[in-house]
Amino acid sequence: MVSEPVIDVSGLGKRFRLTHERRATFKDHLISLIRGETYSYEEFWALKDVSFSLELGESLGLIGPNGSGKTTLLSILANVMRPDRGTVDIRGRIASFLGLGIGFEGELTARENVYLYGSIMGLKRKDLDAKQDEIFAFAELERFRDMRLNNFSSGMYMRLAFSTAIMVDPDIFLIDEALAVGDMAFQKKCKERIKQFKEEGRTIVFVSHDLKAVKDICERSILLYDGKVLSVGESEKVITDYHLEYAKRNPPSPK
Ligand code: ADP
Ligand code: MG
Repeated sequence: MVSEPVIDVSGLGKRFRLTHERRATFKDHLISLIRGETYSYEEFWALKDVSFSLELGESLGLIGPNGSGKTTLLSILANVMRPDRGTVDIRGRIASFLGLGIGFEGELTARENVYLYGSIMGLKRKDLDAKQDEIFAFAELERFRDMRLNNFSSGMYMRLAFSTAIMVDPDIFLIDEALAVGDMAFQKKCKERIKQFKEEGRTIVFVSHDLKAVKDICERSILLYDGKVLSVGESEKVITDYHLEYAKRNPPSPK
């Protein structure tokens, strides 16, 4: 039996428009409008012809320098951004840790947010009753269940977001730079939890600058550079390709 891919991405492209004039205030906008000026903008492709597929239980690393398109790609997989070209097929329930983008409401308490997120993920209330203990224990935020999120520090917020996303039983987990969250002890815990998630046979797309963690967690990786796939395959090989590409683009300056 051939298993169907859980993520299937084909010919993906994402375009952004960069406007040139800065019209900072409403008045500036109004003046331009009255003068009949048009905005000039530049089109810029943050992703160009990206294709890959992932089977159930596979982990894919996504590496590359800042601005290479990693977060854009995850945002499209998470369905918070639409591609301008190509197709995305997802089979399964997807949860994501994209920094602050998880969709929490600052006015609600931590507990209410966990229930909100859980119910969006399709969990039943009684399952959430049990899960929330796990979530708050993992995040080490038991004492703060009834605090409004607006009063959380960014570190606390991130810990809660990570714990919630990984504990609501997704089939696929998208992780953007999670290991930058929290202190060393929390980072270690996250890494272990991600490994456990993988051992449960679930699928992961993992963005990180921690290349050792990428090698540890992901059997395969993709190297993105300027929105293009430069290398794909076994993580160790792709990491080597990253080093080679970096050296090629950043030659040592002559003394
Ligand atoms: P990475 O996560 O690899 O650092 P990103 O996916 O965040 O890269 O960004 C890829 C490129 O797209 C960058 O040049 C970034 O400036 C640009 N970009 C990302 N989001 C937007 C946006 N909403 N509008 C315009 N440009 C964007
Ligand atoms: Mg990013």
